[in-house]
Amino acid sequence: PLVLGIETSCDETGIGIVRGSQLLSNTISSSMEQHARYGGVVPEVAARAHLEALGPALTAAVDEAGIAVSDIDAVAVTSGPGLSGALMVGVGAAKALALSLGKPIYAVNHLVGHVGADILDDRGEPFEYPTIALLVSGGHTSLLLVRDLTSDVELLGETIDDAAGEAFDKVARILGLPYPGGPQIDKAAAEGDPTAIRFPRGLSLPKDMAKHRYDFSFSGLKTAVARWVEQKQDAGEVVPVADVAASFREAVADVLLTKAVNACNDYGVPRLLLGGGVVANKRIRELAVERTDAAGIALRIPPLSLCTDNGAMIAALAAQRIMAGHEPSTLDFGADSTLPVTEIQVA
Ligand code: ATP
Ligand code: MG
Ligand code: FE
Repeated sequence: PLVLGIETSCDETGIGIVRGSQLLSNTISSSMEQHARYGGVVPEVAARAHLEALGPALTAAVDEAGIAVSDIDAVAVTSGPGLSGALMVGVGAAKALALSLGKPIYAVNHLVGHVGADILDDRGEPFEYPTIALLVSGGHTSLLLVRDLTSDVELLGETIDDAAGEAFDKVARILGLPYPGGPQIDKAAAEGDPTAIRFPRGLSLPKDMAKHRYDFSFSGLKTAVARWVEQKQDAGEVVPVADVAASFREAVADVLLTKAVNACNDYGVPRLLLGGGVVANKRIRELAVERTDAAGIALRIPPLSLCTDNGAMIAALAAQRIMAGHEPSTLDFGADSTLPVTEIQVA
């Protein structure tokens, strides 16, 4: 099926078009720059930006795919989880488009959409199931057991406080680096010593591992970095930004990959899929290769344009649902900012 997907859950306005598992176009526009001076995504600003970006993005995606919008078989849209106001803009637009074209609509889960990105990655065969998926972004840090992308996804664990990307952004701020902090820390860390400071690995003590084996926590790490930096400043010493960045990045990468590989081993699933904007991180990618190689686990990291929020992954997930024989959503669904990952599609 020819499916057009709309994604507006955070700060990316994404429109993507797929034919089955084939990617035809993937237009993304981000309001990231408008949030820079606030040091994080401002929901109202994001919602307004979606409203302005959707029209041009739709035209661009349709042109790039070389189709007429009336050719599509279905409209797909992210209905959650994400920022309420931002989601509502996409949901409203998708309903209007589906109604005006007389086509069915599929309201799908954003997190499962990230897993759907793998299908569009044409560098080799897509993953067999089951697979473990680790999704790390500015809003999420989630570990999933995907038995079937269209019908059976289990949330093994997630962050109990900050998301990993959020931690990168906050630590960058502590170090006086601009937003978004992820790329800045990555750059600074390249010159630093990752073993210079031993920062805590959240929820990794034996007592935590009993209850939170697959959960993450990054707020303690952020506080530890803040305290360490403060002490240096109070002592009148120069803060070794590169060493702090490298040591912080190492702590995040270590805990992410330790828990992901644990999940693969515990469930006997020798496949790990990474998604979300934070997988742009050089050390996370490097450590992912190292650890999965050592454990005999196959690793997939889709190209970054499919890892960050985009409409094509939403379209791909809906296309899989259609091919598996699922019914479309009824038009009375709304945006659900806390949509659980088990709800792959809203009825
Ligand atoms: P959502 O949580 O809804 O998926 P988001 O817009 O918050 O979406 P993404 O756009 O996927 O998340 O990713 C943005 C986050 O990724 C930011 O927090 C940014 O700092 C972080 N990031 C980007 N590049 C890097 C990097 N090289 N290293 C670490 N973090 C990075
Ligand atoms: Mg984003
Ligand atoms: Fe996302």
